[in-house]
Amino acid sequence: MQRWRRQLPNGTCKLLRLALTGALALSTLAGVASCGSDAPTTELLRDDLSVTTYSSRIEGGLSERITFDIPYGVESFLIEVRGDKGLYYLTELIAPNGRDVIEGAKYTTRGAREVPGLVDWLYPNSPDLFAEEGQYTLTVRGINAFTGNNLSEDIKVLIYTPEEKPADTCGIRIDFLVDDAALGAETFAAAVERIYEKVDLNFRQIGIKVENYQTYRVNMQSSDINLGDGSAVSIVDDVLDKTLPIGAARDNAVHVMLVRRIGGSDNPTFDPAGYSMGLPGPYAPDRDTSAVMVSTELYSDGSGSLDADGLASSLTHEIGHFLGLYHTSERNGSDHDPISDTPECESEFTCTDEFRRNIMTSSFWLQGGPPSFRNRFTEAQGKVMRGHPLCKPMSVNVVAPPIEECTLECTAPNTCAVINARMSCELACDPGATAPCETGECLSDDLGTYVCTPT
Ligand SMILES: [Zn+2]
Repeated sequence: MQRWRRQLPNGTCKLLRLALTGALALSTLAGVASCGSDAPTTELLRDDLSVTTYSSRIEGGLSERITFDIPYGVESFLIEVRGDKGLYYLTELIAPNGRDVIEGAKYTTRGAREVPGLVDWLYPNSPDLFAEEGQYTLTVRGINAFTGNNLSEDIKVLIYTPEEKPADTCGIRIDFLVDDAALGAETFAAAVERIYEKVDLNFRQIGIKVENYQTYRVNMQSSDINLGDGSAVSIVDDVLDKTLPIGAARDNAVHVMLVRRIGGSDNPTFDPAGYSMGLPGPYAPDRDTSAVMVSTELYSDGSGSLDADGLASSLTHEIGHFLGLYHTSERNGSDHDPISDTPECESEFTCTDEFRRNIMTSSFWLQGGPPSFRNRFTEAQGKVMRGHPLCKPMSVNVVAPPIEECTLECTAPNTCAVINARMSCELACDPGATAPCETGECLSDDLGTYVCTPT
């Protein structure tokens, strides 16, 4: 048993990971008086995923230094801090190479959307960082969410370690929880089907598929969700309380609440199309942040028809946040995501189409253009999201993103056409002419160009 004891620097609490019997763990930790902690416990959640829970304490606003090991074959991990009333910030994360990745803002954790007593951080969330094997040390700062004072409370730190995905592809499951006021009872099933198809296509570009989805109608009591006053958290809590026990909300799934409207009680002009309760969201299905919301009102034309493509774009964006992605560029034009292959924009007059097409571009930058304009992820964005433990390893047929511009050089009377996402040179035609085509029919291609198409 002695071998578990270590001489550690002041303030460091070595927490043991894995494979300790209860008796061994207790007697061992009894010898490490400064820790005041229970032995860590490890639970296997899926064949490829386990979670280890460490007990620690924040005293006067700062936690002990918490040490954990990342085994070989893991390329990302999710850190979750749970407590009572704290808002938590990661002040130090020392990688096995001895470097603090928080320093120099290499690892970004801003805006993780803490609710009192809970936060999640996904590591890494940039292609420039790598979850190397070995020992990490983290320190958490905590302030009281209600008073703003330095916090003293017991916390649990959970480290979720998904194994490296062999084929670098994985799938998520979606549970649609549809408020009665959000979509009509007759039309919601068809609408959700179209939303799912589009979201699945968006994700397939970067090797993620929607493995399956299910739909459940639920009366949320409040058709309009207010952000900023804490009511969103209690509604999520209430909806999950109702839906988890009956399987309408599942483990290993992203819970999507379709609501009529999302607004900010303290800011009437804040009327977002969607909102992710976490950035990233948790793995566990029963947390107050285990949901994303999308408003249907912004996608309805009043006559009951829904812009499913627009809604799917917003939903893909919110799931992107949930799986760990930041906006390409924030509204201030100076905060950008930590990903090098995403386009950025600093002022609205200089934004490129490539920027506005990225799914993680804030709708703020779309200047009133259709949200469905956003339909691209970059390869590195895919890599970050595939590292979230909710993405379960499975093979995926990658689907290329839609073609927006026909770039083949064609000689008149032929013109470049996109048919079924393929570019080719086809005979141009005028649909208003009496006999526009000698053979075939004069039809619009994917981009609205009329060409003679074999029938
Ligand atoms: Zn966003």
